[in-house]
Amino acid sequence: MIKALLARIRQGYRTNPFPSADIKLPHRYLGLPKLKSSKLERAAAACPYGAISAGAGPGLDMGRCVFCGACAKAAPEAVEFTREYKLCSSDRGALVITDRDFKRAQTLGADLRRIFGRSFKLRQVSAGGCGACEADCNVLQTVGFDLGRFGVQFAASPRHADGILLTGPVTKNMELALGKTYAAISSPKVVIACGACAIGGGPYAGHEECVGIPKDIPVDLYIPGCPPHPLTILDGILRLIGRTE
Ligand code: SF4
Repeated sequence: MIKALLARIRQGYRTNPFPSADIKLPHRYLGLPKLKSSKLERAAAACPYGAISAGAGPGLDMGRCVFCGACAKAAPEAVEFTREYKLCSSDRGALVITDRDFKRAQTLGADLRRIFGRSFKLRQVSAGGCGACEADCNVLQTVGFDLGRFGVQFAASPRHADGILLTGPVTKNMELALGKTYAAISSPKVVIACGACAIGGGPYAGHEECVGIPKDIPVDLYIPGCPPHPLTILDGILRLIGRTE
């Protein structure tokens, strides 16, 4: 017991301050994309997932982007990636980066904030995911991020949840389970699409086994990335429930 206490004293407080100017991201981290030119032909040709459109209305769709950086390497005069990790939006259309300012996720209305603002439980549904988005959600529950300090937790049953955090492209096999999970959560409820696969199919877009999020399940928050950085997920969730500016 004494040894355990001494170890805790030696280690000190290990949780990252959030939000904080001191957050250090790895040097190879790619954040919010920025278009430096409207001539995106070369960047579009380099993109393996068709996330860049170069014709009329040029833009980079963060909902399809896996942040591999190939476009910025092929056309550095047209695309660059900033270090900004606040990438979430409430609007699918806003994930398309153009020359306009990026519109970040909006906070829920006052009535929902009153319900979810201090205690927010999510049921995680992995609908065909590879495990990467799920791993980054897991990381949020470690001492480094300590999601629970904001009153946000993952629930073991949809009956105890206020919403779904969905990962994966929604395979045919998982469509029914997703629908049943959504139905089992009492209203009001929220849905968060986490990662490129959940938002637009990611590398599996168009595959015959992937059906995407059913139209009768409305999405309140989109978290882009492949997988999204834990800070991106944390920022999006807290922004949604009005716990960060
Ligand atoms: S970083 Fe995104 S937009 Fe650029 S090439 Fe990779 S997937 Fe395409």
